[in-house]
Amino acid sequence: MYLVVIGILGLVLTLSRPIYRLVEDPRLVLVAAAAATLLPALVGVWITRRVLRNLDDHPDQPSLAQGTLARGLVFLQALLMLCHGGVLVCTNWLPLCERVPVVGKWPLLPSLLAVTPFLLSVLLVWLALYSADRAVRQIALEVYLFRGKPVRPAWSLVHYLLYNLRHQVLFVLIPMLLILAAHDVVMRFERPITRATQLAYAPDLLVGLAALLVAVVTPGILRHVWITQRLPDGPLRDRLMRLATKLRLRCREILVWRTGGMIVNAAVMGVVAPLRYVLITDGMLEQMDDTKIEAVFGHEAGHVKRRHILYFLLFAFISGCAVAIFSLRTHDLARRDYTLYQVTVTLFGLLLAVKWGLMFGWVSRRFERQADVFGVRTLALSGLPCAQPCALHAPATNQNPVPSGDALCSTAAHVFADALHEVALLNGIRPEARSWRHSSISGRSRFVQELALHPARARRFDRTVCLTKAVILGAAAVSGAWAAYDLRIFATLAHWLSI
Ligand SMILES: [Zn+2]
Ligand SMILES: [Zn+2]
Repeated sequence: MYLVVIGILGLVLTLSRPIYRLVEDPRLVLVAAAAATLLPALVGVWITRRVLRNLDDHPDQPSLAQGTLARGLVFLQALLMLCHGGVLVCTNWLPLCERVPVVGKWPLLPSLLAVTPFLLSVLLVWLALYSADRAVRQIALEVYLFRGKPVRPAWSLVHYLLYNLRHQVLFVLIPMLLILAAHDVVMRFERPITRATQLAYAPDLLVGLAALLVAVVTPGILRHVWITQRLPDGPLRDRLMRLATKLRLRCREILVWRTGGMIVNAAVMGVVAPLRYVLITDGMLEQMDDTKIEAVFGHEAGHVKRRHILYFLLFAFISGCAVAIFSLRTHDLARRDYTLYQVTVTLFGLLLAVKWGLMFGWVSRRFERQADVFGVRTLALSGLPCAQPCALHAPATNQNPVPSGDALCSTAAHVFADALHEVALLNGIRPEARSWRHSSISGRSRFVQELALHPARARRFDRTVCLTKAVILGAAAVSGAWAAYDLRIFATLAHWLSI
């Protein structure tokens, strides 16, 4: 979620001035920034007290406290965005930062100064939530003990803050700052660039290209922002490497992702193979057996093989084109009729919010399920012995034979569902809890098991995802062409070719 919050704030930072100047007096602007910084933290304190009270009142039902904390986090992120987005859009805070002596003249520094209240606010929120987070995590740690697995002490305040900083904020902030820096540098040389290329919008194009470059190289940076190391040689590495070869999954390295044993999770990042990493947390390596780690690895491989990262980038590309088209077309409007401009900007902002809030969530949940199905297939491929009646290994003898390409091994589906449940349990997440990007764990495990029983449903699901991807691809092509037309790229190319 922090991803979207920071992304939107980043977009706002490229505005040259606030859209609504509701607060102009510098002292009032400072008061507004301070209030936006403190309010989320106060709400954080209130949420922590509720979580702890839940744990005290219902010690036998820890899921109540887990639910309160999860909902509280979502609410806090929305609040952070409203407060700090509000300060940037409605007050003179941004121009004020640009006018600070010395700092204002450098590229990037004014933007950094402008997001400082947000960063401070996030830090205060974490401080406020620490004891709630620790209490909920303690429940998960008791599960570790119960299973007879190694347990490390719950992380200290410093560890907790550092972990959150690296994984929630720096992970988005570093690429965003790189893009903003490129933006500031290019805009400084706007005139010479335009003159040299004879293309009025060459600077905007350059910033777009820089953003693309940042998206490609970011995994190589994040690998060092998060604490990671190469998965050591051993039976597990051999198994995963063999599996990667079978799946034709190309990646630079399989990494252990160090979280002090606190997080049981895996991830994959990188669009291009030389800068692509599969990450598995130390917690997962310590707590789960190799077959289940293979299941999770299969899920991550599914994201790569089904090109989900590329489609997410296309999704962002569509937004980028929309913003470019919008700002070109409303350029004159801002001078002619400022009120109408304000209304249009607000509507456009709402549209983007819907696109990211609802559509991205929907697409992401479909992609997660497709990766789950891939994980099940991977398990079958890895040689998991089949132990029950199954559409893949012992096709049903009814009149409706199923082509083996769609069938899933029901044992593999079962083991995969188990792995998902284990991940939820070990992380202190309720299996029924849903998030913006993921369906609930129970929903996901039911889904793969149902597909194993009904291969026809698997086919239908595949068609839905294919269609979704086609729509994204089509929308990206249309918006790219439209933006290119508005940026007069075609005209310039024709001009160059005719010379
Ligand atoms: Zn996933
Ligand atoms: Zn089977």
